[in-house]
Amino acid sequence: MNSVSSRSKFAMTGLMLLVVIASTAAGQNKSPVAPSEQAYNTILKQAYDNFKNDTTGKNADYIPALAQVDSKLYGIAIVTTDGRVYKIGDVDQPFSIQSISKVFTLALAMEEQGAEEVFQKIGSEPTGRPFNSIPAVVDMPTHAGNPYVNAGAIATASLIGGATADEKWNKLLAFFSKAAGTQLSLLEDVYKSEAATNTGNKAISMILAKYDRIYADPFESVDVYTKACSVGVTANQLAVMGATLANNGKNPLTGEQVIKRENVPHILSAMMMAGLYDGSGGWAWHVGIPAKSGVGGGIVAVMPGKGAMAVFAPPLDEAGNSVKAQKAIAYVADQLNMNIFSPASVGLR
Ligand code: GLN
Repeated sequence: MNSVSSRSKFAMTGLMLLVVIASTAAGQNKSPVAPSEQAYNTILKQAYDNFKNDTTGKNADYIPALAQVDSKLYGIAIVTTDGRVYKIGDVDQPFSIQSISKVFTLALAMEEQGAEEVFQKIGSEPTGRPFNSIPAVVDMPTHAGNPYVNAGAIATASLIGGATADEKWNKLLAFFSKAAGTQLSLLEDVYKSEAATNTGNKAISMILAKYDRIYADPFESVDVYTKACSVGVTANQLAVMGATLANNGKNPLTGEQVIKRENVPHILSAMMMAGLYDGSGGWAWHVGIPAKSGVGGGIVAVMPGKGAMAVFAPPLDEAGNSVKAQKAIAYVADQLNMNIFSPASVGLR
């Protein structure tokens, strides 16, 4: 009897050791409920095929350069916190990051000023209005609303430190590039096109000034913001930027700590509240993953601790969110149990 129990004790210890070795070998950053490589590849292909021929929505055209982008382009990339990359379609095609830049402008402002200071100055209440709403600037308690509508993002850009507008812009570009793990650059044609037509954003900056809610020269801040929106990214690069957020602020491919880990929950909670503008409530209800969209046709969705998925497909719905990107992310999220409000997302069934 003794020998049986000591043998089973030995077996137990061996098993525990194996589990420890296996989890260490898999890497500290691998989620215990991570899907297999095969599951990722299969579901990614299904998401691509299911929506490839969907022609709903239309390109943004209030920024003339965006109307020129091929509306058939479609690419999906997933980057996991343990550094795996899965992709399909037009994942190497650069497009303008647009409002997704707001996430990383917020991140840099918090690096510089601290999260609480930024929260006090900008706020984080959803507006329930379009991203460029002028009445919302008058009505919202902080006037800036939240960091992901135009007013809040222009105010956040005004918080970035620097003696000149150029210095602020260069800091933002360098910071975005660290999150992407590669040097990003400005899409000049998009920048010029928006700079020539952004009277609405200039009006917003003046209303912010009326309420003392912009913290540098208003038009200069609009210009820094417009450049940030005109940064070119590919779906692949955007997924790396998202995975940096999923990985506690540390880029899983370069290993660099880009964003302070304590700031990440603030960034993601704001994405949940306002990442898809006045479509955010419906998105939270149906999909349940913090995400951010841009009128260039990109959406990045962040699965905390697991990874990020970025989709590029230019045609947008009424709220300004890529139609195919929403469908593809919703499909993958459902298949892989990624809804953060569902206990299944952490392996509980
Ligand atoms: N640069 C765009 C603007 O200011 C960004 C809007 C967006 O992507 N929703 O209108």
